[in-house]
Amino acid sequence: MSDRLEELRTNLAAVEERIAAACADAGRDRSELTLVVVTKTYPAADVVLLAELGVTEVGENRHPEAGEKAAAVSEMGVDAAVRWHFMGGLQTNKAGAVARYADVVHSVDRAKLVASLGRGAVAAERDLEVLLQVDLGPDFDQPSDGRSGAAPDDLAALADTVAATEWLRLGGVMTVAPIGIDPVPVFERLASIAERLRGDHPGATTISAGMSGDLEAAVASGATHLRVGRAILGERAPLG
Ligand SMILES: *Cc1c(COP(=O)(O)O)cnc(C)c1O
Repeated sequence: MSDRLEELRTNLAAVEERIAAACADAGRDRSELTLVVVTKTYPAADVVLLAELGVTEVGENRHPEAGEKAAAVSEMGVDAAVRWHFMGGLQTNKAGAVARYADVVHSVDRAKLVASLGRGAVAAERDLEVLLQVDLGPDFDQPSDGRSGAAPDDLAALADTVAATEWLRLGGVMTVAPIGIDPVPVFERLASIAERLRGDHPGATTISAGMSGDLEAAVASGATHLRVGRAILGERAPLG
């Protein structure tokens, strides 16, 4: 029995306790939430240990790291249970490669990326679930420089584009709360955007929000998917 397995087991249990407490506070059922464990910068061996602990949803934010890890995990023989969530900034020319291993892409924010993912999914003959990343920065609605995510006003058109693309399925929306501000209004805004989107696309039920530092706020504000890295895997070394 590895020490790392025990460490992951302890951390996972602590996160599950936080989720349970947040659900109790919000009057929600744990079954309404999916925990995606974000393994970026950590090795494929950790994904295998997490799978032993029952984790089936795994998140990554960089290509090619994500693809290499998915291939390594699959070689270790546990791929059947693991679903890969890609949630990072994605260049159009890398999208085809990501469509070969990702099951869900959380970070779709422009039509060109939809087209590239669509071509990749067709070529790979794999269904790909797409979440629209929304930019809800401090100056909501102001076009942002450099931040990821589509402006709220652009979502309806982007959603229609995804829905019209073969092999892509519109799953819902995602945001990353800006650092240093109260995440609750941000996540509440995301939930209301998601509700409006469901008017046109009833299948778009996913609301991906909440990370290690703000998962309680996300549960309180109606999130369906939490993306938790550090609180389970440990603090990451600064990215080089
Ligand atoms: C890394 C990452 C997470 C997880 O963040 P933690 O603070 O490690 O929980 C969630 N979402 C995205 C988009 C990420 O890149």
